[in-house]
Amino acid sequence: MSTPRTLFWHRRDLRLSDNSGLQAAAALGPAVTGVYVFDPALITPPPQLPPMAPARLWFLVESLVELQQRWRQAGSRLLLLAGDPVLLLPRLAALLDAPTVVWSRDVEPYARERDRQVAKALQNDGRKLLVDWDQLLVAPESLRTGGGDPYRVYGPFLRNWRGQVERLAPRITEAPEGLQDLTGSQLQQISSAEGDLGRLCSQGQSELERLRSSHGFAGTELCPCRPGETAAADQLARFADGPLLGYEPDRNFPGQQGTSSLSAALSVGTVSPRQAWCSAQSAKQIVRSDEQQHAITVWEQELGWREFYQQALFHFPELADGPYREQWRRFPWENNEAWFESWREGKTGMPIIDAAMRQLNQSAWMHNRCRMIVASFLVKDLICDWRWGERAFMELEVDGDLAANNGGWQWSASSGMDPKPLRIFNPSTQASKFDADADYIRHWLPELRHVNTKDLLSGDIGALERRGYPEPLIDHKKQQAHFKALYARIRS
Ligand code: FAD
Repeated sequence: MSTPRTLFWHRRDLRLSDNSGLQAAAALGPAVTGVYVFDPALITPPPQLPPMAPARLWFLVESLVELQQRWRQAGSRLLLLAGDPVLLLPRLAALLDAPTVVWSRDVEPYARERDRQVAKALQNDGRKLLVDWDQLLVAPESLRTGGGDPYRVYGPFLRNWRGQVERLAPRITEAPEGLQDLTGSQLQQISSAEGDLGRLCSQGQSELERLRSSHGFAGTELCPCRPGETAAADQLARFADGPLLGYEPDRNFPGQQGTSSLSAALSVGTVSPRQAWCSAQSAKQIVRSDEQQHAITVWEQELGWREFYQQALFHFPELADGPYREQWRRFPWENNEAWFESWREGKTGMPIIDAAMRQLNQSAWMHNRCRMIVASFLVKDLICDWRWGERAFMELEVDGDLAANNGGWQWSASSGMDPKPLRIFNPSTQASKFDADADYIRHWLPELRHVNTKDLLSGDIGALERRGYPEPLIDHKKQQAHFKALYARIRS
């Protein structure tokens, strides 16, 4: 009799090391097979689901290529399927006669409903499920206020979250070794591509190859986020050895490489939040100065923001559909399509905005400071519905992530949970503070390299100097007053 085989379903945990779901699967016995499903609802989603950016697709498929190699090194294999997981997973589990299927939980509303249906179908077939959290340091259910409610405000969330992380004292687990591959007859069925199993797997493999050659992202060299588990580990190690120690204040300056660029890796799980947290703890043991200790604490808080938005989406899935605050549903957005296109393409005539949007268009990533500046500009200067910006980001970002992106946009629009008063960023003030020598602006807007720093920061560039660069679309002061008047209406 052959050993019972466990099926491990990878979703947003595209790594073997420190994968708690995979550890749970391997604890049942060495006969473990991995599976990833190219779900058309995520690869070419319908309009109600977040779009898949070409860069995100690139990052995903290249990470899967490495993941397949990692499975071979561990002794077993990763099967790829293409189609609806609700139909395919029960079929695969039946073909492999797997009594147990394991996966890690997700906070996104689509994934939760899909998982419920997959679980139901598997249980109807008499299979066992092992499902737990892996992509969060603290399970969202255990983060509650004193009154038992989910958190709506980041400050108190952070205190509770940090306390729990410190108590849990996360540890990293190694990638499993010595796994057992499929049996000879199962392998024959796959390699001959005959029979159900062979057909299922060859479709998934062809889909990988098709997506690899057709993702449509041209900026792979410019993108600071590198796909695959090995690259993510290297990136984390390099960051923890240097930039982390100066993260505060360097994280604020888009012209410096002061942040980790691990957002895409954390989003698809080529690195785990435990690995990130533990690297920060190791660095804390070594550094001596208060400034460096503080810098590391500030980076931990960013991991906290990531989890804040994920638990928010878990508890309030309606966030994905629109503004959290009721009054914002009545906001009279002006939605000027020509302005929106200029913003998206980086042609607003406001250098800091255009530099940031060019960075996003070309490299598929944007510095956090600039994400806040361009989001405020779209919503509060161009008076455009923040959901247009949210969608545009998902269409362009390598690290597009429903929870973080929606959270960032609702924060910038002031329509989200945090009860702070209206925030309006002045683009010139922001540029002067955070790109004082205009290095970042000159880098992404090479056509303006000849313009003096003062004019690049203010956006007040003379007609002769412009040489084809657009006139500013709007006057910030006027638009600010206009926006405030519109806001006063919805408040009353
Ligand atoms: P670091 O500064 O090194 O931070 C480490 C990690 O913490 C990040 O990789 C990320 O996982 C997390 N993190 C940091 N800041 C935030 C934050 N404000 N919210 C949530 N998580 C955070 N982040 C995404 O991962 N995907 C998105 O789609 C996304 N969209 C955004 C849209 C807007 C309008 C705004 C204002 C922010 C958005 N962010 C998003 C958050 C943030 O800008 C990025 O996580 C960060 O710039 C990524 O760079 P990094 O990896 O170098 O971050």
